[in-house]
Amino acid sequence: MKRDNGGMSGTPWVSDLVLIGGGHAHVHVIKMLGMPPLRSVVEENGIRCTLIAKDVYTPYSGMLPGLVANHYTAEEMHIDLNRLCRLSHVRLIHASATGITYQPGGGGTVTCDDGRPPIRYDALSIDIGSAPSGFSSHKTMDVTPVKPISEFASRFRELKNRLQETAKSYTKERPFTLLVVGGGAGGIELALSAQYSLAQILENSGGNKNLLKVVLATRGKGFLESHNPKVRAIFQRIFADRGIEVRFEAEAVGVEASPQNSTTTHGHVNENVENAPMS
Ligand SMILES: Cc1cc2nc3c(=O)[nH]c(=O)nc-3n(C[C@H](O)[C@H](O)[C@H](O)COP(=O)(O)OP(=O)(O)OC[C@H]3O[C@@H](n4cnc5c(N)ncnc54)[C@H](O)[C@@H]3O)c2cc1C
Repeated sequence: MKRDNGGMSGTPWVSDLVLIGGGHAHVHVIKMLGMPPLRSVVEENGIRCTLIAKDVYTPYSGMLPGLVANHYTAEEMHIDLNRLCRLSHVRLIHASATGITYQPGGGGTVTCDDGRPPIRYDALSIDIGSAPSGFSSHKTMDVTPVKPISEFASRFRELKNRLQETAKSYTKERPFTLLVVGGGAGGIELALSAQYSLAQILENSGGNKNLLKVVLATRGKGFLESHNPKVRAIFQRIFADRGIEVRFEAEAVGVEASPQNSTTTHGHVNENVENAPMS
């Protein structure tokens, strides 16, 4: 069925492409929808593109380690979806998608939480990120889940504030220990950038940067398992140079508070930690 396209180009709307989630994956798609050759394909075929996003000001995860290391501000790390969608001629719906229906012949509708009528789609792409399983209930303890990424910046700020307040209390026997769980690219980047930034805080707050201990735990036999051996060797060397300890075949399966206001991960990893960002 042909529909009025609102006068944006000469071709009526013929079909609907709907994207749910305005994060890392879809910002690339939206950017490409506004550029050759996709721009003309979309226009000539009457494809209406719609983004349903619950956050209009969206964090870009590729820049997260740079935020942690203070190389970028939170503002620099965020993308204004309003602007991006306008440039790419994508309709933006600021809402949370709450339901999807499928029609036997293909296509269906997406329901949103803002009470608007269901949004029709012919093709649907869902990229709404992920969250670490089993750890979400520990946000209030000394655990900092990295995902959802939209909540990470403020959680990391809290961690930094706490370190600033307690900077002078750490000793050789009881250093501030940061345990990073996950040995993929994200965990590696975060371990390095968090070490850089937390050491600065310790030093600038009257503490001793040598009383920061960073440990990375991964369930794999090595880290960066999807990368080639040369890359792995480079990062192994960097970790050794930076004094970051790595525990292999160490799967974190739970977290619990311990009496000294610290947190213990349990399972195969056993470590007294102040904070445990999860990636
Ligand atoms: C530290 C770190 C660094 C990384 N660096 C890179 C990198 O350099 N390159 C790379 O390719 N990958 C990188 N990644 C991996 C990358 O973050 C993920 O692969 C990516 O986030 C997945 O994309 P996404 O769009 O699905 O999720 P996200 O980027 O997490 O975005 C999900 C979006 O969906 C929205 N949303 C959630 N639920 C709904 C709903 N019901 N309705 C509407 N909107 C919703 C959220 O508000 C959010 O904006 C990194 C990850 C980490 C942790």
